[in-house]
Amino acid sequence: MCGIVGYTGLKTAYPLLLEALERLEYRGYDSCGIAISNSTGVALLKQFGFVENLKTMPPIEEGGSGIGHTRWATVGSPTEENAHPHVDCNGQIAIVHNGDITNYLSLREKLMGQGHIFSSDTDSEVIVHLIENYASEGQMGSIVRALKDLEGSYALVVLFADSDLLIAARMGSPLVIGLSPTENFVASDVPAIIEFTDQVLYLEDGDVAAVTPNEVRVFQNGDSITRTVHHVSKQPEERGLAGYEHYFLKEIHQQPKMIRDSLAGHMSSIDPSVTLGLELFNEGKFDHIFIAGCGSAYHASLIGEHFLSELGAVNTSARIASEISHMRPGDKAHLGIFVTQSGETADTLHAARLAHEAGYSTLGLTNTHNSSISRITDQTIYTEAGLEISVAASKTFTSQLIDLFLIGLQLFPPPINRLHDLMTELRLLPSKAQQVLGLQPQLDSIGKKLAPHTSAYLVAKGINYPVALEASLKLKELAYLHAEALVAGELKHGPLALLTHETPVIVLAPKDDTYPRVLQAIREMRARGAPTIVFTDSHDEYLASIVDDIVYLPTTEPHFFPILATIALQLVAYNCARAKSLSIDRPRNLAKSVTVF
Ligand code: GLU
Repeated sequence: MCGIVGYTGLKTAYPLLLEALERLEYRGYDSCGIAISNSTGVALLKQFGFVENLKTMPPIEEGGSGIGHTRWATVGSPTEENAHPHVDCNGQIAIVHNGDITNYLSLREKLMGQGHIFSSDTDSEVIVHLIENYASEGQMGSIVRALKDLEGSYALVVLFADSDLLIAARMGSPLVIGLSPTENFVASDVPAIIEFTDQVLYLEDGDVAAVTPNEVRVFQNGDSITRTVHHVSKQPEERGLAGYEHYFLKEIHQQPKMIRDSLAGHMSSIDPSVTLGLELFNEGKFDHIFIAGCGSAYHASLIGEHFLSELGAVNTSARIASEISHMRPGDKAHLGIFVTQSGETADTLHAARLAHEAGYSTLGLTNTHNSSISRITDQTIYTEAGLEISVAASKTFTSQLIDLFLIGLQLFPPPINRLHDLMTELRLLPSKAQQVLGLQPQLDSIGKKLAPHTSAYLVAKGINYPVALEASLKLKELAYLHAEALVAGELKHGPLALLTHETPVIVLAPKDDTYPRVLQAIREMRARGAPTIVFTDSHDEYLASIVDDIVYLPTTEPHFFPILATIALQLVAYNCARAKSLSIDRPRNLAKSVTVF
């Protein structure tokens, strides 16, 4: 994924780049580095791990042009040697790269044959040696020539010794240029530079830009072109832990407010009706809907699929965005909803492009203003989660659920009394979510119980199966615990073979029409000795008598049980990871925004 940034202007570049890199860490934190063009040539600092490690080193004090990188390794292990920027053999050219060069092995071999010395295992390093190879064609010429040899994806910024010119190029990875009268910026994403400028232009695939302190020129196929300048506004941010031990915990606790904010303005207080104010929804009826996302966003899509299918008589399906490789021709009555917290998830953007090209109506659902998804889809809904710093999703996941519920209620309103009941229950959700937060002591003891185990299972049925998937993802991400979600009715078809008294099972047993089958599954698991921990809104004494732990969640409408169960299970995963003293906000090997395929 990697975050990249460049600065050229009258100020000292190093502290600006350091600050921007900290804001880009959500894209990766395996290693980081900065290169500055100054009187020494190209001055370079690199470190393994977080940007705070760079801060422990003496800063580069001279130089007004530089580039920086925070890495999420795709080729080559996360070491200091593999950290970007990478420099050519003479240390006169430096590059930072986000993406994957798929033909790097053959290029590397060729370049080594020509005498180039490589100092990393990355794919990215071939780019700087190629530029060096074509140096006789001039700064711009050498880069344009080098790009012709590359296959794969890149967002690239190139820096030269003794020069205030930055050259940026984009193919398949995002890149934005920030404009200011006496200084200009390049970055993977707006949040990196929003503190410095509110005027940006977005590069498109194939663009190459020459950036100096007082000029930005963009070229496509050698022709100078104009890209629209956008005004971006700073989203209010609540950085800081506000007394919580971790951001993940803080963000779990922000969910009651998030639900309230998400519902505000969308539910009429005069008559039972829901509106998201989207022109797209005024244009006509949809006869086919699919919802696509990756990771947590896919789990949200599955819950959306259940909800929309039950409300509307139209064909609705959820799909893993990375599994969408082609799209049958459709029309505007086909709606694709693309769910991505960052708005930059490469697989989801690709699926959205395919749907757009196939003629579908497209809707983005994201938490990030000005992100790429909004430029691909016909319209975008912005979730009201606010900044989420923890790499593992919590409030952004539940905010996607709330918006999918609202989409369902607007597109397929049920009969008026039923709609009234659903809206009433939605309005009660913030206080019920607050009650779930009050279960923290019990959820802490369950998290601690899970901590010594190497495997756990989560069993559910219907709309709660995606909740089990999401909770198992949290246990993997945060607590490094192998956790697998199972459909209750599937246990007897194989998974029961895994269960012993060493394998705790978390069961979601809401008192809805799935209850008898889930109860049956609990009996089957108990018979095999597996410790069972049940999350329910049923006060059935029989249930309490056959399980090891029981967590009573507030009673709600069955479709909204997933929100309350998710919050409880986020706390279980948090407490489990905490008991193991793990890096909760920045788990190993992960990044918040997944911008590579
Ligand atoms: N492929 C490059 C590396 O591993 C960049 C990775 C990325 O952008 O995610 O260093």
